[in-house]
Amino acid sequence: MKILVINAGSSSLKYQLMDPYSGRVYAKGLCERIGIDGRLTHKVIDENDETVLKETREIAMPTHSEAIESVLSILVDEKFGVVKSLDEVDAVGHRVLHGGDKFIESCIVDDACKKAIEECIPLGPLHNPANLKGILACEAAMPGKKQVAVFDTAFHMTMPPKAYRYAIPKEFYEKDHIRRYGFHGTSHRFVSKRAIELMGKPASELKLIVAHLGNGSSLSAVADGKCQDTSMGLSPLAGVPMGTRSGDIDPCIVEFICNKYNMSPSECLTMLNKKSGMLSVSGKSSDFRDLEAGAKEGNEDCALAREMFAYGVKKYIGSYAAALGGLDCLVFTAGVGENDGKMRAQICEGLEFLGIKIDPEKNTVRGEERIISTEDSKVTVWVIPTNEELMIAQDTAELCTK
Ligand code: ADP
Repeated sequence: MKILVINAGSSSLKYQLMDPYSGRVYAKGLCERIGIDGRLTHKVIDENDETVLKETREIAMPTHSEAIESVLSILVDEKFGVVKSLDEVDAVGHRVLHGGDKFIESCIVDDACKKAIEECIPLGPLHNPANLKGILACEAAMPGKKQVAVFDTAFHMTMPPKAYRYAIPKEFYEKDHIRRYGFHGTSHRFVSKRAIELMGKPASELKLIVAHLGNGSSLSAVADGKCQDTSMGLSPLAGVPMGTRSGDIDPCIVEFICNKYNMSPSECLTMLNKKSGMLSVSGKSSDFRDLEAGAKEGNEDCALAREMFAYGVKKYIGSYAAALGGLDCLVFTAGVGENDGKMRAQICEGLEFLGIKIDPEKNTVRGEERIISTEDSKVTVWVIPTNEELMIAQDTAELCTK
């Protein structure tokens, strides 16, 4: 079976053609600068997950339709293609950012699903319109092909009201659906499911914290295989400080900055989303590797940025251990979580009282599944690489073969 996984952003579109059962990727790539000019980067992948061919094409992409058409055309290209005809593509799975409180799981794209994604645009104004454009473009280019929407928020829909409600007047919740939703749900679901399998115990006996630490970062508390709480909120701006996002701040800061610098609330939020976080504290970079290099050279701001990140994540681990009433398993995933052993150690330092003991030697692991805690650590600490595309492909295959 071959599933095309699409992640459409406002000016970019990522894709992978993959087998949902074996996880084998046949081709993957990226359309960039949609609505500006347009560039397609396409890679053909072999069975060892190595890139065997790479092609970059400048293609006019005034809209997502041209981007999708360029993807479909290179997938059947004589030289760079990986299928003879699009009939070999069994279905398409789309990452959709915001499912509001309408979607607790993935669903087949039909009129009701498209309408609901549209209705969630006020909650995900940057991503949902692009996600919908990706769906419509695929529909137009491959009429009748089954499509599935996989929501970033869905995994978190099991949170109880005490975790998802904000303590603000009820009408904003009832009329406007303002509440905690959480994001990276596909990753939290993939990684927590895998951790439960690896722990070899029933989900009902396991309390887990998943730390998805990348350019965007979020943590989730999981009990009985279900999300109980998560650090992102109505939007992905909430939670720990991130690459370029501030994470949680006192909302009064927004009013102060807007008044003093004559900024609109949306300009201020753009600053909090794109120019804050590690980038702003270090004054150098949002990339944790650059911060590490800077700190090594004695740059105090780079060192402080890493300290603030570790401290922010540590505080969430402590609060989720309390919320869960114990902890069996802590899992690190995503770019930083999978690769940055020093950051993992910095985060876990001082958490021995919770039963978290890291083995420095095991903790050198990068990008592969491994226990990094000591044998006598009460909490099993794992590195588990995430694979959101595979989860999307698996959901798509499951729903389309029902
Ligand atoms: P995104 O949120 O964009 O999906 P990723 O999960 O891909 O982010 O994580 C990207 C981040 O991971 C980079 O910004 C970088 O800081 C960090 N990263 C990747 N590789 C390493 C590494 N070897 N060491 C430290 N940090 C790394």
